[in-house]
Amino acid sequence: MIFLDAAATTPVRREVLEAMWPYLSGEFGNPSSHHSLGETAAAALAGARAAAAEALGCRPGEIIFTSGGTEADNLAVKGIALARRAADPRLDRVAISAVEHPAVQESALYLERVHGFAVDVIPVDSFGQVTVEALAAVLRPGTALVSVMYANNEVGTVQPVARLAALAHEHGIPFHTDAVQAAGWLPLDVGALGVDALSISGHKLGAPKGNGALFLRGRTRLEPLVHGGGQERGRRSGTENVAGAVALATALTLARTPGLGAGEGPAVRIAALRDDFIRSVLAGVPGAVLTGHPGERLPSVASFCFPGTSGESVLLELERQGVVCSSGSACAAGSDEPSPVLLAMGIDAEVAQTAVRFSFDATITAAELQEAASAVRNAVGSVRALGPTG
Ligand code: PLP
Repeated sequence: MIFLDAAATTPVRREVLEAMWPYLSGEFGNPSSHHSLGETAAAALAGARAAAAEALGCRPGEIIFTSGGTEADNLAVKGIALARRAADPRLDRVAISAVEHPAVQESALYLERVHGFAVDVIPVDSFGQVTVEALAAVLRPGTALVSVMYANNEVGTVQPVARLAALAHEHGIPFHTDAVQAAGWLPLDVGALGVDALSISGHKLGAPKGNGALFLRGRTRLEPLVHGGGQERGRRSGTENVAGAVALATALTLARTPGLGAGEGPAVRIAALRDDFIRSVLAGVPGAVLTGHPGERLPSVASFCFPGTSGESVLLELERQGVVCSSGSACAAGSDEPSPVLLAMGIDAEVAQTAVRFSFDATITAAELQEAASAVRNAVGSVRALGPTG
């Protein structure tokens, strides 16, 4: 099997499993306990926090461990907006891009539905990018928070986060970015990005599912969403997932290979393989359309529409041929609705239903991608021969 669905999830890396194992077994203490087992767990948690902070270029106290990317996004969007409005009732709007993951989108809609906020949606261009002008056009005196993802999970388009954050700051508005897909591929230095909050998820990086983190800049106000024993400095209660935090920190540290995402190293090698793959698919499949930005995209994502097919039939046919991929996002898979991300990019609904996303990790080889490209040719050919519902 050729696994081309790494944007959905990745296997746990051996180094990560080895690093977390002691805290699942012999060193199983609760970090809040005052005996030696507890102290060992607390030290491991502190070490993980320091390592995660180092990877993001922030202070350890600015890391909040969560149960994953979804929780980190919820905490950022709801927590910052609610805290700001509590301090100033006029701050009753949030601005999010049209291509956010449901974790951000649904959090904004919750604020609208339950707390009376207004949601301003920032449109994207045909590559799925938010321009500085598009953001400027939606900012209002009442905007409490801007949230624009770093890289899109369906088409891989990378956003100009530093420029967007700078614009939000000119208006005194905090900026959150969902970096779940960017982590491991793009530089994550929160100082250089200029963001106030940034979400990451372990399972996209070779750590287990169910752990993630939110970076929250120093004095940014936050209304906690999970109340209880006051862990994570009162920002996220609940006994800490020590092994999960160690796993996340280890995966983040491993992903910080020198040069990764900075013009050298694996990101560049993988980007070159991605470009060869894109060329082969476009050359081999008549009518195939690349979706997302041609250059400013994750090294690990190639996404297409294959007009005259249905994405789901192509996926089934590809799986029969030993290639596993997805229709765009794990949450949209199996649904008949065209992807809101593709619609926001101006792709018409019928074509959007033919979307297929290929995403890989740094272990992918040129030979595997060549094989996958010929499987794509065959799969699209047979689906078209059978008709779109075949
Ligand atoms: N944000 C983006 C961009 C994602 O791709 C995902 C996962 O697919 C998430 C958030 C949610 O992360 P998690 O699965 O850790 O809840």
